[in-house]
Amino acid sequence: MKAHYDVIVVGGGPAGSTAARFAASRGAAVALLEKDREIGIPVRCAEGVGEHGLASLVEIQPHWIARRITGAVLIAPSGAEVGLSSNQVGYVLHRKQFDYDLARMAARAGVEVYTKAYVQGLLMGKTGVTGVVVEHLGTRQAISATLVIAADGVESRLGRWAGLDTRCTLQDLESCAQVTIANYDGDPAVCRFYFSNESFPGGYGWIFPKGDGMANVGLGIAGVKADKRCAHDHLEAFLARISDKPAILSRVYGSVPCSVTLKTIVTDGLMLTGDAAHQANPLTGGGIVSGMIAARTAGQVAADAIADNDTSAQRLQEYPKTWAAGEGGRMNQFYRLKKFVFTLSDDAFNKIAKGILELSPEKRTMTNIFKAALINKPSLILDAIKLFK
Ligand SMILES: Cc1cc2nc3c(=O)[nH]c(=O)nc-3n(C[C@H](O)[C@H](O)[C@H](O)COP(=O)(O)OP(=O)(O)OC[C@H]3O[C@@H](n4cnc5c(N)ncnc54)[C@H](O)[C@@H]3O)c2cc1C
Repeated sequence: MKAHYDVIVVGGGPAGSTAARFAASRGAAVALLEKDREIGIPVRCAEGVGEHGLASLVEIQPHWIARRITGAVLIAPSGAEVGLSSNQVGYVLHRKQFDYDLARMAARAGVEVYTKAYVQGLLMGKTGVTGVVVEHLGTRQAISATLVIAADGVESRLGRWAGLDTRCTLQDLESCAQVTIANYDGDPAVCRFYFSNESFPGGYGWIFPKGDGMANVGLGIAGVKADKRCAHDHLEAFLARISDKPAILSRVYGSVPCSVTLKTIVTDGLMLTGDAAHQANPLTGGGIVSGMIAARTAGQVAADAIADNDTSAQRLQEYPKTWAAGEGGRMNQFYRLKKFVFTLSDDAFNKIAKGILELSPEKRTMTNIFKAALINKPSLILDAIKLFK
C-alpha cells in the first residue's frame, strides 16, 4: 500500500467498487479497502435487481444471473394472489460473483484493491478528512488521501467519525432475516411478495427463485416493531407457512436503511455513498442499483474535484445535487409511498387485493394497485404514477 492516494474508497460492496472504478477511469489514483478477506462475502442480500437499472450501469454478464425473472405476484394477508401485469424483466443474481466482478472491473480501471484492510479511523487535518488509519494483514498504518469515499455499508462509521449525522431511526431501519432453500417448487421465473402487518410489520416477505429449486426466502420488518418478535421469529413462522420441510442451506440476518438519503453526504475531504449514505430504495429495500447510481456520480465528482485541486464540501456539492435531481428525488417519492403502505391494516391489504382481482389481468399494474390503495391521498397517487409509469 502506498503512503498516499488521490482517493481512498472504504468498502468493497457494489457502491465502493463502482465509485472506485469511476474515479480511476477519470485519472485518479485510487485504493479500495475492504475489511473482509474476500470481496463479495458474506452475502447479506436477496439478490434481486431490475434489468433496466442494472443495464444502465454495467454490461450484464450471464454468470452473474442465477435466474431471469419475468413475473411478480403480490400476496395479501388473506392469501389472495395478484399477478402483476408488467413487461419488466429482473434478475436474481449470484451476488458473490457480481460483487467480485465489480471489484475486478475497478482493478482493471487501475484501482488498487486490498482485502483484509480494516479502516479503523480517519486522519483529520486543517482541510478536513486527510486519510484513513487501516489495519492491513495485521499491520496498522496511516494512509493519506486527497479524498475519502465512505462506502462502508449500513453499519457505516466513517461519516460519524467525520462529524456527520448518520443516524437512522428504528422506524426506518428495516431488520431482515433470510434463508436460502434448496427445495423450492414454485414458478422459478416469478418473484413473490407477501404483505401483512401481522406477519411482516412495517415491511414484507419475499421469495426470490434462484433456479434449480433454490430460492431466497426472507422478510424485512421495521426495526421499531422488532421488540416484540424479531425478524428471525417472523421468518420461522413464514417458512412454516410456505413449506413443510424447507431444506435450508444458509441463513443471513442484516438490515437496510429505508429512510430518505442522509441530509449531509459530503464534508471537507469525504463523501458517503450507497447504504452508508442511506441511498437504498425505502419502499423495497433494494440498494444495489440505487447505490451504484449514486456511487458512479460520487466517483466522477471525486476525480473532477481532485483535478480542480478543491475537495472542499462546497466543491463536492455537485454529488448530492446530481443525486437529488435524479435518483434521489425518486427515492423521496418512494419514501412517501412507504410511509403510507406500511401503515395499512391487513383488512385494507385484503380489500385492495380483492378490488384489483376484479380488474382484467392486463390492468393489474403497480399504478392501479397504488391508485386503489391511495384513493384518499391524491398527492401520493401522482408519486405512484410517476414512479411506476
Ligand atoms: C436480507 C437483505 C436482503 C436484501 N435484498 C436486496 C435485494 O434483493 N436487492 C437489492 O438491490 N438490495 C437488497 N438488499 C440491500 C443491499 O444488500 C444493499 O443495499 C447493498 O449491499 C448496499 O451496497 P453498499 O456497497 O452500499 O454496501 P455493502 O454491500 O454493505 O458493502 C459495504 C462493504 O464495506 C465493508 N466495510 C464496512 N466497514 C468497513 C471498514 N471499516 N473498513 C473496510 N471495509 C469496511 C463491508 O465489509 C462491506 O463489504 C438487501 C439487504 C438485506 C440485509
